[in-house]
Amino acid sequence: MTVPDARGYRSFADLAAAQHRGRDFEIEIRRRPSSPVAVVAPHGGRIEDGTSEIARAIAADDLNLYLLEGLRPSLNYRALHLTSHCFDEPECLELLRHCPFVVAIHGCAGRDQRVLLGGLDVALKERIAAALAAASLVAFGDDHAFPGLRPDNVCNRGARGQGVQIEITHPLRRSIEAVRFAAAVRGALLEVAARHAVDAGADRLTHAARADRR
Ligand SMILES: [Zn+2]
Repeated sequence: MTVPDARGYRSFADLAAAQHRGRDFEIEIRRRPSSPVAVVAPHGGRIEDGTSEIARAIAADDLNLYLLEGLRPSLNYRALHLTSHCFDEPECLELLRHCPFVVAIHGCAGRDQRVLLGGLDVALKERIAAALAAASLVAFGDDHAFPGLRPDNVCNRGARGQGVQIEITHPLRRSIEAVRFAAAVRGALLEVAARHAVDAGADRLTHAARADRR
């Protein structure tokens, strides 16, 4: 049997028509409704090796997590790599709709340990870059092949229409440094989540005060 070529997929429906959920791929969602953050690995499992593990480590048990994982014995990338701006899997979009902060974890080629940051959420990107620098990890914020600036890129489909795309080379994904990497990204996300909670609380107080004056 010939293996379908994912480069021809224009949507999740194309992928689902060619590959079987439960056999070729699986979707895992961990909803943490009290968190404003979602961690997404759209090419998890055997599609981009190591990205599921890193996404899980970042999300731990308190951030929203979405994984689409390749389970095939071979040719996972070829058959299951639905490109990021076509990634419209409905359960994923439903989760992201409620999350103002989104990071998508990907694997890219490269012989050294490096991280390429993209996406439309410039502030979060800078915060993550600072956290990685503090952990002595090399991250590039621009001038690379994965800017992730399309609004339909899955990283930018959260509640604010902007997120961060993180591409990680294989040597980093499979090294002990991956633990430090995940901890640094998680730290940055917990910071923005905490600030978001404070801002939301201040908003509620302002609204309450206005309502009182009426
Ligand atoms: Zn990817």
